[in-house]
Amino acid sequence: MNLLFLGTGAADWDIRKRKNGEFFRRFSSALINGDLLIDPGPQIFDYCEKNDCPALTDGVTDILVTHSHEDHFNTDTVRALQKTASRRIWCNEFTAKLLGAFFDCCTVVDFKTEYTVGSYKITPLRANHSSNIRGEESLNYLIERDGKSLFYGLDTAWIPCESWHVLKQKKLDCVVLEITLGDGPGDYRIFEHNNIRMAELMLETFRKVGVLKPDGIVCASHFSKFAHEDHGKLAARLREFGVIAAYDGYRLEF
Ligand SMILES: [Zn+2]
Ligand SMILES: [Zn+2]
Repeated sequence: MNLLFLGTGAADWDIRKRKNGEFFRRFSSALINGDLLIDPGPQIFDYCEKNDCPALTDGVTDILVTHSHEDHFNTDTVRALQKTASRRIWCNEFTAKLLGAFFDCCTVVDFKTEYTVGSYKITPLRANHSSNIRGEESLNYLIERDGKSLFYGLDTAWIPCESWHVLKQKKLDCVVLEITLGDGPGDYRIFEHNNIRMAELMLETFRKVGVLKPDGIVCASHFSKFAHEDHGKLAARLREFGVIAAYDGYRLEF
């Protein structure tokens, strides 16, 4: 699989305050093999424009939505994508309702159920993350194809046990964890986002029980602007426990 990060920031990055030449993160979104988009957020076309790749999303056939938070899901983005081609959307019932005219393109998914999505096998997994919509439960995704597997785990704090019971049966090639928070103590967001130490603890277990293949790749994304040092320092800190700090435009193959 080819995984391209279109955005790696949490919701506190403000694109209106972006300055030329300064390091910046867009809202989190990723594109797999050019045809599977995770989270149609509001800034994916900005990525295309600034990186001079206007046709980047042309091949997208399927869109996975994790939850309705505005840094992950944007109806204008969906509308623009559907204008050029019909894409299937996989999401929870609350996000589907927000899609109005595009409701017919949606498949409302259940937790722990396998879906065939184009050439992929997708299993939505429960996340531990609140939403602005009462009753909405956020999704993480297990994505498999041709013997390769990826866990895309954002947004969530830890991994709920029912999701772990699915993951523990796997041997993953790649894990993408959210590390919204840094090392600082007392951040209230810890009940719905990971900090660095939480990611470190989870990965110790992933490796110990063999959920991650020995040559498996671990990447982190969804970094808060105000909880982290600059990218170089963050990358060095995560490298200590074998994690790559993704940045907008980072691409990996596994
Ligand atoms: Zn988010
Ligand atoms: Zn969120």
